[in-house]
Amino acid sequence: MAKILCVLYPDPVTGYPPAYARDSIPSLGEYPDGQTLPSPSAVDFTPGELLGSASGELGLRKFLEEQGHELVVTSDKEGPDSVFDRELADTDVVISQPFWPAYLTAERIAAAPKLKLALTAGIGSDHVDLDAAIKAGITVAEVTFSNSISVAEHAVMQILALVRSFVPSHEWVVKGGWNIADSVERAYDLEGMDVGVLAAGRIGQAVLRRLAPFDVRLHYFDTHRLPAEVEHDLGLTFHPDAQSLARSVDVVSIHAPLHPQTYHLFDAGLIGSMRRGSYIVNTARAEIVVRDDIVKALESGRLAGYAGDVWYPQPPAADHPWRTMPHEAMTPHVSGTTLSAQARYAAGTREILEDFLTGRPIRDTYLIVNGGELAGTGAKSYTADGSASPGTGK
Ligand code: NAD
Repeated sequence: MAKILCVLYPDPVTGYPPAYARDSIPSLGEYPDGQTLPSPSAVDFTPGELLGSASGELGLRKFLEEQGHELVVTSDKEGPDSVFDRELADTDVVISQPFWPAYLTAERIAAAPKLKLALTAGIGSDHVDLDAAIKAGITVAEVTFSNSISVAEHAVMQILALVRSFVPSHEWVVKGGWNIADSVERAYDLEGMDVGVLAAGRIGQAVLRRLAPFDVRLHYFDTHRLPAEVEHDLGLTFHPDAQSLARSVDVVSIHAPLHPQTYHLFDAGLIGSMRRGSYIVNTARAEIVVRDDIVKALESGRLAGYAGDVWYPQPPAADHPWRTMPHEAMTPHVSGTTLSAQARYAAGTREILEDFLTGRPIRDTYLIVNGGELAGTGAKSYTADGSASPGTGK
């Protein structure tokens, strides 16, 4: 029987379960590229419930305990006295989320001799030291596509929030003011702007598709070029590298995974090559940009705005400079954990566990590392060359 250690973000401060705003969520047929939705044998939750916090338990307890497995769920993940570190030693499976990552460093992997599967309830497994997982023969899997559209919607929202100067206008209303000029002195239309995405995978492509009706000029760079018909349909300009993309756009939205090639890509040099008054939206991973270079560029006016919902580390300190820098539209890491997304990543987590626990192969598209090498989606989207494990702080 297996021991499954699951790290989830804390419950709402107002208690669990919350009062839900809606009675149901739409049921979807398939993902936009035809990939089938998660298909576990059953689920023990109602889609639309809060499953991603500690009491939600991803809806896994009944299924796992009925089969004799042990499930430990905790939010306590930092430091040697944390529940996570204490329970890790005899754990077979770690489930973690990018929103509240249990950083699986090489040291922690070395302290977990029974660990066979690191499962991300969501997308993005950079919180796992992939090189160490490869060496230890650990499988790394995530629920590919489960929240890609959720993130794409959030990125479009943050692009509009920045360009239209939504946050300051809203704050004037809350403060009791009617300060039209103060609200609009930094507000523009998106129409006609050059907008680009760094990486046109599942999320980046969904952002491009959602922005096309805004009558903007669309650009992208990805290490894998899109088919010519997609470029033609969306009117895309392909760039050969991130440098060419950055200097050609007014807005860049970042959608690449964090790995050695993208670590600290947006530094003072690259930001300095962008048009004065550009905007950066980053819903991918914080470490793709240099934290303090973003702050300086906002303060100097080189950037007109920065928005995102990814930070490092997570949760960030109370004095993290992105909380107070000018012209930001930051959120905590929420874009991929709407109640709609949770239903999909909880079902996908159960699908992966069902396959793993019965010895069936895990869907190839869910795999990041398998059999001692990058596999499935991981082989296309990541590099693990032993040089760095950026998401784990190395
Ligand atoms: P995906 O695998 O479909 O797409 C990733 C794309 O990045 C691929 O097309 C790949 O070719 C491209 N790429 C890889 N390295 C690159 C590089 N150096 N330069 C340019 N392109 C590169 O993944 P996705 O579903 O689109 O997700 C992308 C990333 O978004 C995830 O890895 C994760 O870090 C992040 N994400 C964030 C949230 C959130 O809640 N904020 C949720 C899901 C995913």
